[in-house]
Formats: sequence, structure tokens, C-alpha cells
Amino acid sequence: MTVILDGKKLRDKILEELKTRLEKYTLKPTLVVILVGDNPASRIYVNNKKKTAENLGINSIVINYPSDVSEQVLLDKINELNTDKNVTAILVQLPLPEHIDKFRVINAISPKKDVDGFTPENSGRLFTGEAPYVYPCTPKGIIRLLEEYNIPLEGRHAVIVGRSNIVGKPLAQMLLNRNATVTICHSHTQNLPEITKTADILVSAVGGKIIGINMIKSNCVVIDVGIFKDENGKTRGDVDFASIAPLTSYITPVPGGVGPMTIAMLMSNTVELFEKNL
Ligand code: NAP
Repeated sequence: MTVILDGKKLRDKILEELKTRLEKYTLKPTLVVILVGDNPASRIYVNNKKKTAENLGINSIVINYPSDVSEQVLLDKINELNTDKNVTAILVQLPLPEHIDKFRVINAISPKKDVDGFTPENSGRLFTGEAPYVYPCTPKGIIRLLEEYNIPLEGRHAVIVGRSNIVGKPLAQMLLNRNATVTICHSHTQNLPEITKTADILVSAVGGKIIGINMIKSNCVVIDVGIFKDENGKTRGDVDFASIAPLTSYITPVPGGVGPMTIAMLMSNTVELFEKNL
């Protein structure tokens, strides 16, 4: 029988735990989000983050710059936030406009306030095995969801479709650290279905209809990270859920799977950085 991995239920449980954890402190974490431009999707994500943080008693500040802001203005602001004792977590909402070098901007964030875990120090630590200050939110949320349902990872073949710095690559490392055997696929991969069919755990992080019924092995675990609007304006994931779900042992829905876990892990990272800074 297929089990639906319920990201919303687990998110609510985690947020409740974080709220209780924060109640014992007089000081509160302060999360600063830098948003550049007026991309509607980014605005929705940032508003959700702010609302969720405030519900937990986290101070949440959004600094919104126009899309033509200079890179130097962002770097100066990040330097100021790095030295501000009241600020415990900094997030730069991606994507940034093309005239800004996102690597320079992310690299400017102090690793101890890097709530996304994207700075070279934190990603370097992840890859060398030294614990980063925090782990990137989406991969961390996926691992947390798999653990909640006691899905074993050791020795299993995990296939990840998508190699972004925010999902595919860090997730591969986190699975490797848990002794899974990991294969990463991308847009140049040949014979994708032949590879995905060997997956005990299949993770898709592409952002398009990519995983069909001919691409999975019976009883595998399917994690759908993708989220996009289809031709009818409906929110959907990479996986053809209706046809594939009955063949799987566990599967995440879209929406309601990985998305809620990502925001829960952002809050968890905010609390962790705050506690490390006390
Ligand atoms: P991204 O930077 O957009 O990269 C997409 C990846 O998919 C790339 O590695 C690309 O390969 C690969 N790809 C594209 N077409 C492919 C194909 N036909 N076959 C195999 N691989 C293909 O990725 P992202 O930022 O990780 O986002 C991926 C999706 O996840 C998006 O829908 C995004 O909205 C969603 N997302 C959701 C959450 C959440 O919390 N639910 C969080 C983050 C992202 P190349 O590297 O070769 O170009």
C-alpha cells in the first residue's frame, strides 16, 4: 500500500516544537530577508517566510530593493548585517537580477548567519564531512521527511534528477553521508529512464513534467521537489502523481510534500543559528 509523505503535518509538528523551544528565551532570533525586485513568486515566498517566522516569535525583517540596485549596495548592507549583534540570520532571496553576481552576494554573508547554508564555508563543510553551521533547507527537509517515516537510506540506490546548488548537489552529499549509493542526473544525462528505473529512492528536482510511469521501479520511494504551473495554471510537480503513486511504497504530493518542509527547515535553521550565537 502506498504511503503519502505528509509534509504539511510534519511541518506543523516541527513549527510547534520550535515555538516551544523559543519560549524559554527572553531574546529572540532576528531573520533578515533581502529581496531584490518585484518577482511575484519571490514576493509570495518571502511573505510566507515572514508570516511563519512571526508566528513563532521570530523577529522578521524584509529589506526590499528595486531591481536596478547595485551589487555594492547589497554587499554593504550584508556587511552591516554581519556585524549587527541583533541580527542572527540572513537570507538573500534568489533569483537575483542578472547584473548582480549571486556568488559574490551569497559569499558576503557570514557563515554563522547563513540561514540557507549556501556560503562556500557551509557548503564546503558539508562536502568535507565537517558539520556546517546549518544544512540547506530543501535537502534537510527531504531527509527529515524520510527519517520521520523510518525510510532506510543505508545501501539503497538514490537517484536525483537535477543538480542545482540548492537541491540536487547538497542532497546528494547528505544522502552519501548516510551511506546511500547516489546517482545524479541532469539535462545531458542519456537514457534517463534506464537510470531512474534502478532507483530505490527517486528524487526529482527539475521543474517540468519529467517523471512518467515508465521511469520507476515498483515499490520505490518518490520525492517530488519540482513545482510549477502547468498549461492550465494548475500547480503541479515533476511526477505524474496519479499514475505513479499506486506503484510506489512512499510518495510526496505536490503541493503538500517537500514545499512545507522547506519552510519548516528555514525556521529550524533560524533557531539553530540563534542558539549557536547565544
Ligand atoms: P534548477 O536550478 O532550476 O535546475 C533544474 C535542474 O533540472 C538542472 O540540474 C537541470 O539540468 C535539470 N533538468 C532540466 N531538464 C532536465 C531533463 N529534461 N532531464 C533531466 N534533468 C533536467 O533547479 P532547482 O532550483 O533545484 O529547482 C528545481 C525545481 O524544484 C523547480 O520546480 C523549483 O521550483 C523546485 N523547488 C522546490 C522547492 C520546494 O521547497 N518545494 C525548493 C527548491 C526548488 P542542467 O543542470 O543540465 O541544466
